Amino acid sequence: MTNDTPMKLDSLWRNAHVATMVNGRYSVIENAAIGVVGGCIAWIGEAHDLPAYEAQAEHDLGGGWVTPGLIDCHTHLVFGGNRAGEFEQRLNGVSYQEIAKQGGGIASSVKATRDASEVELIASASRRLKSLIADGVTTVEIKSGYGLSLDSELKMLSVATELGKQFPVTVKRTCLAAHAMPPEYDDKDAYIDYLCETVLPKVAELGVADAVDAFCEGIAFSTEQVARYFKTAESLGLPVKIHAEQLSSLGGTSMASSFKALSADHIEFIEESDVKAMADSGTVAVLLPGAFFTLKETQRPPIALLRQYGVPMAIATDANPGTSPALSLRLMMNMACTLFALTPEESLAGATIHAAKALGMEESHGSLEVGKVADFVCWDVESPGELSYWLGGNLVKNRIYEGKSS
Ligand SMILES: [Zn+2]
Repeated sequence: MTNDTPMKLDSLWRNAHVATMVNGRYSVIENAAIGVVGGCIAWIGEAHDLPAYEAQAEHDLGGGWVTPGLIDCHTHLVFGGNRAGEFEQRLNGVSYQEIAKQGGGIASSVKATRDASEVELIASASRRLKSLIADGVTTVEIKSGYGLSLDSELKMLSVATELGKQFPVTVKRTCLAAHAMPPEYDDKDAYIDYLCETVLPKVAELGVADAVDAFCEGIAFSTEQVARYFKTAESLGLPVKIHAEQLSSLGGTSMASSFKALSADHIEFIEESDVKAMADSGTVAVLLPGAFFTLKETQRPPIALLRQYGVPMAIATDANPGTSPALSLRLMMNMACTLFALTPEESLAGATIHAAKALGMEESHGSLEVGKVADFVCWDVESPGELSYWLGGNLVKNRIYEGKSS
């Protein structure tokens, strides 16, 4: 471009300080401007360096702080019913065993999800999605896993797709058919066979999932069973993620790393060899402080080891009806600081660039750089650390999704 050819922009956003989160650091640009073309960032820098330009629209961000739009990389946002009744029962002294005998726990979510229509599931998930959006989320991952049969898993994935069409948010869909045992099976290997022979091939054929996930735990599936399921996913060209080492150490994280898993999630019980495996495979550690808090866990993920090996740490809500009914990613950022001792900068990286990597979309999302999608939030704060400091509250001034105020 020569000096006499003005840069053509769809929109220019100015009068803000920007924490770009490039390389997982604040990487601040003060008194910044962001130029957008076709929903992507065409120019970003200090306003006084702006070349000659012609913008169809100009917006004043009022001196606020801008960060990449938040990315919630682990949710179970779609489900029938909820478990508030069980929560209340438990606090009135009813035991877990008694609740399980009444068909409570995950079984009740499976039943309610199977019984619900797509329209009902969209309506209930919309309410939760609106909370995340209002809190600055521009990308959300949504898992299936309360259907546990071909039709009901496809129904959940279809609801996730529909939510992405109805709301200004990017939805990444994950097939979590290996979440729990469905009531009609009593043999875990037989259920894994069904997933490998019937469910995953159909999911891949229809193109309704961006990744495949499993719950590897004594109360769910063994490392060998999950490895078999991952092998099928790999052969179908679907990347994998894992719920692992949440309650015990089974080696699921290392096994998943051997499949170059996008992420290993929870991981309170991982050991140094697992951390090394993650570092070697580029697997992101997804920390879920909401579940840790709700379950009153005491074993923290080994943050110092993750730092030492340079494993990127993401933070997510794990929004689900049982163990993490969390509807604010910013609250999870606070909990990652208060419960796991992350720094506010690590916490923000965990909800932006590292969360993007956990979804395999770090080339296009998660930081504010030329060429990336123009998803960003202008916050009513005086420093980016405040995003991890406040417990709740509404701090969003402007939310820009694909270059448009939304
Ligand atoms: Zn989960």
